[in-house]
Amino acid sequence: MAVHAPVAPDSRAVAPAGPPNKAYHLVSRQAHPQDTVVQVGGASFGDGHFAVIAGPCAVESRGQLLEVAHAVREAGAAMLRGGAYKPRTSPYDFQGLGEAALELLALAREETGLPVVTEVMDSEDVALVARYADMLQIGARSMSSFRLLQKVAATGKPVLLKRGYQASIREWLLSAEYLLAAGNSQVVLCERGMRTPDSEFTRNTLDLTAIALAHLETHLPVIADPSHGTGRADLVPIMSCAAVTAGADGLLLEVHSDPATALCDGKQSLTAAAFQALCRRLPAYVEMRG
Ligand code: PEP
Ligand code: MN
Repeated sequence: MAVHAPVAPDSRAVAPAGPPNKAYHLVSRQAHPQDTVVQVGGASFGDGHFAVIAGPCAVESRGQLLEVAHAVREAGAAMLRGGAYKPRTSPYDFQGLGEAALELLALAREETGLPVVTEVMDSEDVALVARYADMLQIGARSMSSFRLLQKVAATGKPVLLKRGYQASIREWLLSAEYLLAAGNSQVVLCERGMRTPDSEFTRNTLDLTAIALAHLETHLPVIADPSHGTGRADLVPIMSCAAVTAGADGLLLEVHSDPATALCDGKQSLTAAAFQALCRRLPAYVEMRG
């Protein structure tokens, strides 16, 4: 009978201590237990800091943008949003004003003092958009455009990373990992709703679980976009409060002075008055967060 000598512990293959490292290890709390704070001008997200980003879906004109920008600043927004390049499902829908919109965003920042965030859709536009914007938005449809993520990260500007509407939480965090691996850790995650079986009533289903779960998995701030997340202005206030209760570090909200005539996403856009009313309700929910 063969006798096997006991194997000395130091001759075995070394097993990792604890659970294996996550594929998104830079984004993971394992590597970085402390919450990251992302600061864009006077707006801070994460580790107890909360900020509201508001503005129109798309920049339509000088008058439209300036009117909304002043209104949201008065109501308490800390950042202005506005699309210059719009990812529209139909090529016949309004595509955005491009560089002219970027110039208007810069003007609105000058007038209100609010830092601006706008989407960059194409690698070719990254340098141009980064010249004007304080934060670059990666839209839901671009979450998996990995070369775009790398190029955006390389600008050094803070990044707002939307979750794809059919993306798993793991895929979302791996897209964030692309940004961190490219040397940019100023990343805010944004849950904006998933494709829904209930499209008769809502445009998307805002995934509140993803907000809470992302906080467990990652040190990055997580905000919610209840405008795209529901597609309905009458649901935006209550779902904003729900998202904050689930732990959101901020909100991204579409506001238009006349939603009925908006060139893009009017149905989900709050009026200035509705936005102001919501901003009065939010502090109680922000305080209640665990
Ligand atoms: C937007 O914020 O206007 C937008 C197009 O969002 P999403 O990429 O989430 O559809
Ligand atoms: Mn929109």
